[in-house]
Amino acid sequence: MSQEPVKVAPSDKDDYLICPFDEGHYILRSRMAVHLVRCAPNHHGSKKVRCPFNITHVCAITEMKIHVNKCPNRSAFEEFVNPDRLTTPEALPHENKGEIECSENWDDEPDQPTYNPSANCAQKFVICNPQGNPPAVRREIREMERLRFQRNEKF
Ligand SMILES: [Zn+2]
Ligand SMILES: [Zn+2]
Repeated sequence: MSQEPVKVAPSDKDDYLICPFDEGHYILRSRMAVHLVRCAPNHHGSKKVRCPFNITHVCAITEMKIHVNKCPNRSAFEEFVNPDRLTTPEALPHENKGEIECSENWDDEPDQPTYNPSANCAQKFVICNPQGNPPAVRREIREMERLRFQRNEKF
């Protein structure tokens, strides 16, 4: 068995990382997390902190404040914390499109293959049930309904 001393070439960066606590420690990337667990207690006075996104990122507090903003693991972490950040939030009930059609598209109804209560009441000239909406919205709906009835001379 030829036990060669660990070669540390700068181009070997992909395989070996320098321990953030001791520049003399060259650690395989895959072993860094394990190494830090053992090495960190020996450097309690170093005032170094761990990156919240990757425990193998260790540096001084002042550097860490800069690092966390550009950490390559940050985006993955944020996706994990906010999985629906990139998806469209569901529309709230009172923002439902149906009510807009009810007041504005009453004479230009698009084909509605599915039952739409709001479209239905626009065709039949009955007052939409404004319950379940905040008072301001309810008032607005009533006013729109009143104007719609007047326009159709059915009031
Ligand atoms: Zn170390
Ligand atoms: Zn980091």
